[in-house]
Amino acid sequence: MELKNFSNIKYRDENIEMKLYSPVTIKDIKEKFGFSLSKSLGQNFLVDKNIIDSIIERSNIGEEDLVIEIGPGIGVITRELAQAAKHVVAVELDTRLIPILEYTLEGLDNVEVINKDILKVDINQVLNEIKARGIEFEKVRVVGNLPYYITTPIIMKLLEENVPADSITVMMQKEVADRIEAKENTKARGALSVAVQYYCQVNRIVNVPKNVFVPPPKVDSTVLRLDIKKEKDIVLDDRNCFFRVVKAGFGQRRKTLLNSLSTGLSMSKEDISEVLKVCNIDEKRRAETLSMEEFGRLANIIFSRKA
Ligand code: SAM
Repeated sequence: MELKNFSNIKYRDENIEMKLYSPVTIKDIKEKFGFSLSKSLGQNFLVDKNIIDSIIERSNIGEEDLVIEIGPGIGVITRELAQAAKHVVAVELDTRLIPILEYTLEGLDNVEVINKDILKVDINQVLNEIKARGIEFEKVRVVGNLPYYITTPIIMKLLEENVPADSITVMMQKEVADRIEAKENTKARGALSVAVQYYCQVNRIVNVPKNVFVPPPKVDSTVLRLDIKKEKDIVLDDRNCFFRVVKAGFGQRRKTLLNSLSTGLSMSKEDISEVLKVCNIDEKRRAETLSMEEFGRLANIIFSRKA
């Protein structure tokens, strides 16, 4: 596909180049629209073209794909996504950014913006409506420089609601990325690691320093690409039960499995002890030492006893 360079678009009323990733452009846009950045909405805008290019390249977007972008801000990633994908749906909560996006995305006929909280958007319904309008697409890819205050709820929503995406490529706080990627027997391993790794193959794309954002956040960042597994590694009799067991196990992570599971699942220690014995798991172990397969085995036995 021939890629047109849209990143050097021109101001409508001033004949100078507008690079959306330039701090000067952000300042100009703020002045032009009387816009001020909101800390509480996690508005740290990207000002590094190389990072934007890495996100686009490593998102594996095909020219027939549909992209859902979370939090377009002033559209710095959106414009590039529009070049790579067939159609882009950008979901932005901040109403003040809508006229700005109309301005910065002018001329792109394959982008639409939804002014809503991503946590309240029924993505499956959005996709159905797009199909009903005759827009056909191959894969669905989710991309975004996430608002960090809701990183985990966004990722879990996408995974739990079975959004038919092939991948989710998102920038997040590095510490959250470390937790998502953590293997067993590491300190960072937690319920989030197990939950995301159940659904996805986790790929670290790039670590990102603070100084590539305006304003710089207090923390370092990382871009992860989560490739959704078509076939899960473990077979679960009941997914809810699995997540309850994982949550209970890590609920009191300093305690032994015997204690944390008994408290978290409101089951007697005798019952938990018996279940652990059947699963061949030492009751003195802690949740972070359990493999995905062991969590699966445990959940299936607990489910069979409760069912
Ligand atoms: N994509 C832009 C960039 O990279 O420069 C902006 C990223 S900024 C880290 C996060 C964006 O998410 C902001 O534009 C913010 O207004 C938006 N946002 C915050 N909470 C949101 C929510 N609940 N739903 C949708 N967008 C949200």
